[in-house]
Amino acid sequence: MKIAEENFSVSSKQRNEMLDITARVSSIVGHSGIVNGDCVIYCPHTTAAITINENADPSVPHDILLTLSELIPHIRPGYRHSEGNSDSHCKSSLVGCSEQVLIKNGKLELGTWQGIFFCEFDGPRNRKVMVQLRGE
Ligand code: ZN
Repeated sequence: MKIAEENFSVSSKQRNEMLDITARVSSIVGHSGIVNGDCVIYCPHTTAAITINENADPSVPHDILLTLSELIPHIRPGYRHSEGNSDSHCKSSLVGCSEQVLIKNGKLELGTWQGIFFCEFDGPRNRKVMVQLRGE
């Protein structure tokens, strides 16, 4: 079994934002030489996340961010964390900091409407995304 790793950075422009990173992850898979296996996409941040959802209609990520912000308000009586970004930490834990996608025939096995998103919950910032591929 072969293991390949590659990191890249993303720059968010808003406090809450979903950035489509599908093309960047696909390109890592494409030149890795791994034909069958799996791919983990991970972000080492406590106020960001990785998710998979529809990337065809931009209103989908908009509505996800709207829903998260309604469920988890920015300002809320009872928050104790002094940085003022408790909502960002809660959103990160709810969405999760990684995703795993199968690699088949040298390509990510994503559904027609699926894309991989980096989710910013405390931007704007520069962030790191780590990709690890395992397979042969
Ligand atoms: Zn914090």
